[in-house]
Amino acid sequence: MKIGFIGLGNMGAPMALNLIKAGHELYVFDVVQKNIDSVLQHSNQKAIASTSLKALAQSKLDLIVTMLPAAQHVRSVYFGSEGILENVAPNTLLIDSSTIDPKTAREVSRAASSKGNAMLDAPVSGGTGGAMAGTLTFMVGGEESVFNANKSFFQHMGKNIFYCGASGNGQVAKVSNNMLLGISMIATAEAMALGVELGMDPKILANIINTSSGRCWSSDTYNPYPGVLENAPASRGYSGGFGADLMLKDLGLAVEAAKDVKQPVMLGGLANQIYQTFSKMGHGHLDFSAVIQLFKK
Ligand code: NAD
Repeated sequence: MKIGFIGLGNMGAPMALNLIKAGHELYVFDVVQKNIDSVLQHSNQKAIASTSLKALAQSKLDLIVTMLPAAQHVRSVYFGSEGILENVAPNTLLIDSSTIDPKTAREVSRAASSKGNAMLDAPVSGGTGGAMAGTLTFMVGGEESVFNANKSFFQHMGKNIFYCGASGNGQVAKVSNNMLLGISMIATAEAMALGVELGMDPKILANIINTSSGRCWSSDTYNPYPGVLENAPASRGYSGGFGADLMLKDLGLAVEAAKDVKQPVMLGGLANQIYQTFSKMGHGHLDFSAVIQLFKK
């Protein structure tokens, strides 16, 4: 297939490279030239660099994937005279894999459909490791027939592909999961710090939690206490992984989406404030499990 890929950052670059590996013809664009150069280099010059967003959109593509930081970037890429919707051929499928609020996802999708373009929101989980390995989880919202016709496309980049329902529901699934993750990480951090302060060895405490009722992904796969899990960011100075500022962004999306439907998210709201505090202290660049530093001496 002839594919356009916009946004070649930490996630987008490895996703684009997996599409090239699968044999697709890839037109790529990013506002940062070195990110384009890196994809050209890692694809042995197989990727085709577009000179602008408009040029990419006008390349008569089968589909376009966008992988951008936040809703304001998605708006600027899709709307406006130089943007995708003004310039794309009507039969090109549009897939946005950025994590954004469900309301914006639905608005962009409606605008695309009024121009004759089908659109799916397809945020991911699995991090940069999953993007490189091609094992991402995709949560997809939009017309079911469009999803069914394109499910195999996602398998070039991911392992678990879920249909979530109408447009925007992929983002609903994503913000719900990440709100739970933010809460469970803070809870794990608080429990680990308490146990150690009261005299427990952190590894023994983690082993007990992980075979008891407190077990969760934050405790058994991504434990925030340094030295408990060799491969977790906690054991390498909280570098790499999923940034605390990205968690703050996702918690903000959850709280905002909840406000729209007057749904209480008490722990999600508190988790949002805790990550905001952590970010204000200058730690937003660290992995989100570093939030345990708020509970340690
Ligand atoms: P990133 O900041 O590394 O990459 C975003 C890319 O978009 C950058 O290369 C940037 O230059 C480019 N960009 C910004 N504005 C643009 C524009 N107008 N036109 C073209 N390119 C533009 O971010 P990332 O870590 O790759 O994350 C992308 C999305 O995926 C985010 O919404 C994030 O929340 C989500 N996500 C990230 C992770 C993760 O672990 N990093 C995991 C799951 C989901």
